[in-house]
Amino acid sequence: MMLDQRQLDKAIRRLNSVIGKEKVFTEEYYLSLYSFDSTKIFFKPDAVIFPESEIDVVRIAQVASEYKIPIVARGSGTSRSGGPLPICGGFVICFARMNKIKEIDRINMVAVVEPGVITQELNNEVAKYGLYYPPDPSSVKVSTIGGNISHNAGGIHAVKYGVTKNYLLGLRVVTVDGRVLRLGGKVLKSVVGYDIMRLIAGSEGTLALITEAILRLIPKPQTRVLFVIPFFEEYGWIDVLLKIYESGVLPCSIEFMDKECISVNRRAREFSELKKEDIQSIVFIELDGQPESVLSESKKVKEILSSFNITDVIFSDDVHEIEDIWDIRRDVSPSLNLLGGYKIADDISVPLSSLRDTVHELRRFAHENSFRIAIFGHAGDSNLHVNFIFGSKEEMEKNFEKIMKSITDIVVRYGGSISGEHGVGFLKKGYSEEELDTNALEVMKQLKRLFDPHNLLNPMKIFKDC
Ligand SMILES: Cc1cc2nc3c(=O)[nH]c(=O)nc-3n(C[C@H](O)[C@H](O)[C@H](O)COP(=O)(O)OP(=O)(O)OC[C@H]3O[C@@H](n4cnc5c(N)ncnc54)[C@H](O)[C@@H]3O)c2cc1C
Repeated sequence: MMLDQRQLDKAIRRLNSVIGKEKVFTEEYYLSLYSFDSTKIFFKPDAVIFPESEIDVVRIAQVASEYKIPIVARGSGTSRSGGPLPICGGFVICFARMNKIKEIDRINMVAVVEPGVITQELNNEVAKYGLYYPPDPSSVKVSTIGGNISHNAGGIHAVKYGVTKNYLLGLRVVTVDGRVLRLGGKVLKSVVGYDIMRLIAGSEGTLALITEAILRLIPKPQTRVLFVIPFFEEYGWIDVLLKIYESGVLPCSIEFMDKECISVNRRAREFSELKKEDIQSIVFIELDGQPESVLSESKKVKEILSSFNITDVIFSDDVHEIEDIWDIRRDVSPSLNLLGGYKIADDISVPLSSLRDTVHELRRFAHENSFRIAIFGHAGDSNLHVNFIFGSKEEMEKNFEKIMKSITDIVVRYGGSISGEHGVGFLKKGYSEEELDTNALEVMKQLKRLFDPHNLLNPMKIFKDC
């Protein structure tokens, strides 16, 4: 979509006057800085806008609607699916200045926050009240609550605690025509009217702009312990995982990294070099809760590990050490760039019962095509990050279609999803329709038209023809 330069100039002049020119940037270096996310795909916006309040957002939406300018919300730009890319140009609305934690309500155990709050900062703050906000994507130190809600982010503790939507109690959003919708509130239960709030969560900025969220908090677990377990057989970790669930233990985290991921991570490599045999993978299992229950669950996990003859395990019950070890896992994704500058990083989710077959088929596909594959991720909820690594951009682009199509075929065949937590965004929009039911897809498109009749909100995302 080519934008009319005169309309754009008029819209920018109007914005300068209604929200203040100190919030509107059109300089080349700003446009470049906000033209990409972690997919490393580039699309330049025509202006970058930093609202400081909900009323600023309302005015931006009104101006964009009047002049038919696309608007793309942006948190920290860590999206792995091209979510905040301005494919059709227009305005990027960066929420970095709307970053206040407005309230921590100890009695009702909720936090009221602006969308630009960094997830880790919220968690640091609520910890002072003995509370905990569980959704923690590995990008937790950078990503924002607005971005987390829009992608319905998961994280390393989702297996026990669930994903962002499970902690959403209320939202304030601005529609494309500038209306403010107040949805939900501080209550855990409410069944009045349609649940627009949970529709907007996970909608990747295509239905409305989030200006405030009310988030559920829970008491901070008192005790945590972590096992770091080496596996010498390719699928040994799946048998252990199934056995742990069978025993009635629900760890708060079960994370996995394969041999390729170990090879690029210095600390994981050091750990693996300590072992005499050839390590195929490392699995991290964390248990949390009251001290007595953690103690008895740890005992069960130790028994299960020794029934598989696994004794060579690192165990920690020190919170600082546990956090430090988790950085090994959190660093896997950026470290993979060391294998080759370019990767096709997918984010599949399959039923636990199909995990082994899915991984096997993906590896076979990679082997048959001589592709380098690295797999890591949230083993506990069978949401794995599958990476195909290339030495050059050209090679990656040449193989993109083939790889995405094959992954989609395999995952859909096993009743899984082509995106467990990263969203469809721009990257996977050509494949989402393979997974969705035809009638459901039609209703989704009708909803999009209802919220955004002129397709101005984050266009060219999620669906093939949007
Ligand atoms: C190293 C690394 C590790 C990661 N690990 C995980 C992980 O474990 N789990 C996981 O789920 N994800 C993970 N991600 C992906 C990413 O961090 C998440 O999707 C995160 O939620 C994006 O937040 P953000 O603030 O960067 O949003 P952005 O990338 O800026 O935007 C994401 C989407 O949200 C929309 N959006 C942002 N703000 C608003 C708003 N106020 N209103 C409406 N729409 C808005 C954007 O338009 C876009 O569609 C990882 C990414 C990286 C780089």
